[in-house]
Amino acid sequence: MINPAEIELLRDALVTLARGHAGLPEFTPEFDRQAVADVLQAAAERMQDNYPYYHPQYAGQMLKPPHAIARIAYAMSLWVNPNNHALDGSRASSSMEKECIDALGRLYDWQNPLGHLTGGGTMANLEALWVAGRLHPGKRIIASAQAHYTHQRISEVLSLPFSAVAVDNAGRMQLTAIESLLQQGDVGTIVATIGNTGFGAVDPLPDILDLAQAYGVRVHADAAYGGYFGLCTNLGPAARASYDRLHDVDSIVIDPHKHGLQPYGCGCVLFRDANVGRFYKHDSPYTYFSSAELHLGEISLECSRPGAAAVALWATQQLFPYTRDGQFARKLGQSLHAAQEFWRRLEVSARFQPLMRPELDIVVYAAAAGSLSGASRAAREVFARAAKAGLHLAMMEVPAAIASAYLPAARIDCESVTCLRSVLMKPEHRDWLDRIMQLLEASAAA
Ligand SMILES: *Cc1c(COP(=O)(O)O)cnc(C)c1O
Repeated sequence: MINPAEIELLRDALVTLARGHAGLPEFTPEFDRQAVADVLQAAAERMQDNYPYYHPQYAGQMLKPPHAIARIAYAMSLWVNPNNHALDGSRASSSMEKECIDALGRLYDWQNPLGHLTGGGTMANLEALWVAGRLHPGKRIIASAQAHYTHQRISEVLSLPFSAVAVDNAGRMQLTAIESLLQQGDVGTIVATIGNTGFGAVDPLPDILDLAQAYGVRVHADAAYGGYFGLCTNLGPAARASYDRLHDVDSIVIDPHKHGLQPYGCGCVLFRDANVGRFYKHDSPYTYFSSAELHLGEISLECSRPGAAAVALWATQQLFPYTRDGQFARKLGQSLHAAQEFWRRLEVSARFQPLMRPELDIVVYAAAAGSLSGASRAAREVFARAAKAGLHLAMMEVPAAIASAYLPAARIDCESVTCLRSVLMKPEHRDWLDRIMQLLEASAAA
């Protein structure tokens, strides 16, 4: 877990940073070293209770460790603690953020989109739906029944009506269900989830764009989870077709703190049409004095934001540029590969039954049983036993209609089934599949 090189790299970077302020008289705030040491030891002991999600034997929720470059760059910038709300607090890190936004926009072939980093995908989606509501006041937001629950809640915050769209057995929005909602005439925006949180399923974007055009509605892509996978060369054909049309949506959310190797606190919203910046207009009497240039705070709902997040992302993008089939893309591709392989191994296991083939790197699987309620009980037992053996999984409640399509022999005796879910976000997961399967089989056999 501890690589001494990281501490050295941080110190060297801090020395260089300090040189930039060498013209000022010496001033180093002091603190009581012993008191700080005692509290830090207590904090480290408390933190031992967290799941070790940096380890490949953590194969549960959407948790991915940041890359060392991101961790170190973030920590280094904390010594000045930039605030990317206004240039006064963040001349350097604001321009780095703009370069990050350009790089993220280029993922979708967008030139000069309006965009900025956010605290996460929730804030980013809030801004996207807020702009959607300004353009289509009072109109309905529709999103997949498997969309992140945040969309329904955000719609509530914005006082916009919301409807969930039924999904098929692959976990993707049903086009007929979208169309019957559109026919009611009050829809303003369709949210397409490009990699949903539960299954990693990719909504059929080409068809959604056709429908949106026919009915004159907006399309927002929630690619908080899946936004980077378009760089991979090993996507299935349906997912590939959806990624290839992302440049035609109106707004996109992508979370660098999901698959972009960043620490938490790094989401991003992008608008294809930079003119929507007019909705953000405000006249603050006290913030913007140091330049006539547009400050990030003038195009963002959040005010104070960590410039450290931009520094970390910028540094990571220098090391791992977003190029198709480059190093960053290949590592993502390994996660896709790991999920495909894991699915195949579960498919031949007598103790488990995987649900849909993964489109991204998320695999959802049921424990074999004679009834759906039996499968739920068995999944919870496997979850607990695996955790004791050091293999950390996640669980998911899957509607019986979807689960039973993959468990035709199981009696349907409840409305939802507790399944196991593994998000294989670490490229190393591929090399750990033997061990993961072994622990899994042993947990089911016990
Ligand atoms: C994670 C996620 C969100 C929420 O983003 P946060 O960064 O957790 O706030 C929204 N939508 C999707 C598809 C997600 O995977």
